[in-house]
Amino acid sequence: MKRLEECIVKYGKALNKDVLKVDAFLNHQIDPDLMMELGKDFVEHFKDTPITKVVTIETSGIAPSVMLGYLLHVPVVFMKKSKSKIVDDNVYTANIHSFTKGIDYEITCSKDYLAKDDQVLFIDDFMANGEACIGGIKIIEQSGASVAGIGIVIEKAFQPGRKKVEALGYPVYSQARIASLDKDMITFVEE
Ligand code: 5GP
Repeated sequence: MKRLEECIVKYGKALNKDVLKVDAFLNHQIDPDLMMELGKDFVEHFKDTPITKVVTIETSGIAPSVMLGYLLHVPVVFMKKSKSKIVDDNVYTANIHSFTKGIDYEITCSKDYLAKDDQVLFIDDFMANGEACIGGIKIIEQSGASVAGIGIVIEKAFQPGRKKVEALGYPVYSQARIASLDKDMITFVEE
C-alpha cells in the first residue's frame, strides 16, 4: 500500500537491521486518517470473504482493526496480553515468544467473544517470526471458529513469519512488505 510505505519511509526509524519503530503513526501516536485507509485496504482485499468478527492482539493491532470493524459492521475483539495469575476457566490461552522484547507471554481471549460459527479476520500490526499470529490462530482454533483471513499492516519479509503461518494453511495478506532494514535505508518487496 503506497501511502503506508510513504509513512514508513518518512517516519519509520530502523533501530537496527531487525526492528522498525513506527511510533509516529501506529505504535504510540496514531494517525486516524491512515488507520481508516488501512481499514479500507483490508476491506478491499477481503471483499469476497465472509467475515463475522475482526480479532487482533492488544495494543497496536486495535486501531486499524476498529476502522476495519466499523467499515464491515462487525465486532472487534482484542486478545489480552495477560499478566494476571488468576485462574479463569472462561478464557482461551496461548503462549507467545515476543520478538521485540525477548520474553514469553500469554495471550487470552474470553470464551464469550468467540463462537463456533464465527468467521474471523485476524489482524496484527507487525509480522516478524509469526509467533503472535500463530498464538492468535491457536486461540481462534480452540474456540472452533474459522480463520477467514490474516491481515498484517507491516510484514518484515526477511523474517520467517509468513512461511510459518502459510505452512499452517493460512495465506497472509500484508499491506507493506519490508525487504530490508537499515538506519538510512528501508526497502520494500516489489510486488
Ligand atoms: P512475531 O510474533 O511475528 O515475531 O512479531 C510480531 C509482534 O511483535 C507484533 O505483534 C509486534 O508487536 C512485535 N514486533 C515484531 N517486530 C516488530 C518491529 O520491527 N517493530 C515493532 N514496533 N513491533 C514489532
